[in-house]
Amino acid sequence: LVPRLRPYTSTIFAEMTALATRTGAVNLGQGFPDTDGPSGMLSTAQQAIADGFNQYPPGPGLPALRKAIAEHRRRFDMDFDPDREVLVTVGATEAIASCLLGLVESGDEVIVIEPYYDSYAAAIALAGANRKVVALRAEPDGRFALDMAGLRAAIGPRTRAILVNSPHNPTGTVFSRAELAGIAEVCVQHDLIAITDEVYEHLVFDRAEHIPLATLPGMAERTLTISSAGKSFNCTGWKIGWICGPAQLVADAKTAKQFLTFVGGGPFQPAVAYALGNEMDWVARLRASLQDKRDRLADGLRAAGFRVHPSAGTYFICADVRPLGYTDGAQLCWELPERVGVAAVPVQVFTDNPTDWQHIVRFAFCKRDEVLDQAIERLHQLG
Ligand code: PMP
Ligand code: GLN
Repeated sequence: LVPRLRPYTSTIFAEMTALATRTGAVNLGQGFPDTDGPSGMLSTAQQAIADGFNQYPPGPGLPALRKAIAEHRRRFDMDFDPDREVLVTVGATEAIASCLLGLVESGDEVIVIEPYYDSYAAAIALAGANRKVVALRAEPDGRFALDMAGLRAAIGPRTRAILVNSPHNPTGTVFSRAELAGIAEVCVQHDLIAITDEVYEHLVFDRAEHIPLATLPGMAERTLTISSAGKSFNCTGWKIGWICGPAQLVADAKTAKQFLTFVGGGPFQPAVAYALGNEMDWVARLRASLQDKRDRLADGLRAAGFRVHPSAGTYFICADVRPLGYTDGAQLCWELPERVGVAAVPVQVFTDNPTDWQHIVRFAFCKRDEVLDQAIERLHQLG
């Protein structure tokens, strides 16, 4: 294996899910829902297969899907040309990799916010670039907030791009307008490209509001906005994602994408187009139900002895294991399936500074209520 990929031989999600399966544990590690998406979307995919949508779709994506994606961004007053400013990808994962491969030269630096989703570090390594991390900091109420001074300090002469994920996996932080304005200011000042990962754009709770970074002044021309269908429509296995942005930046990402997979997900593309156009009421119900699930799991974790950090979005809650007498979340996560029958993910694996994060573990709440209840009951054995 080439040295630059040696740190990435496995993923925590694959390992924890394998351990959960082996031990029969309730899997609150890997974030995927255990119920299906809207039935109209599922039947559209089945119909597409029956109707012969089984060959390569067009390179940039099915026109109806690109149009639906552009229309979906109009709710933010954003106007993308479906033909030149929208690219369909194999999930957000390929979108992120394509943006980096198309726009970042080897030796360039890319800023990532720590803790970061695992594919960011690997994709930066694939591009031969270097990552610079800026850590989120817990505020007195437990919310993880952007460290603006840290961000400014991370910029150097080789910094080319910043990857911004909001709503944020794994912390559940939804960046405020002030935090995004801080990022925008730095991007404009240093002429950076912003790559935003908005896969949880619909999964925001209470009064939190998802604000795309591209809507801030000076950002539309330098931002590639990424999202995907998996989290919005409970279809994480379909891997239909997309990039929206200025035509030249999208073309640059497409240059890389066309040689990674060329195209993907033929019969799922019309189904996601249908869902974007017709299933937003379903998504609103999903959001409400996930908010209840977040509360259910947060209450249960607190009752079991964890200190729970607030989560304003995503599928995830972070919990501090120290009140239970543990110091190392990774060790706990490796023991937990065997000992009590629950799987979770240690947040330190998403960081370059594991000791700063070793007391935090991530639990996914995108599961049926009875599954969450069973996990909570089992976690009580820890106390
Ligand atoms: N970004 C984040 C923050 C995620 O949590 C995930 C995983 N679910 C992805 C990207 C990958 O999305 P996709 O499955 O569409 O490739
Ligand atoms: N995004 C999901 C998570 O954070 C899992 C994706 C994966 O397994 N790669 O849990």
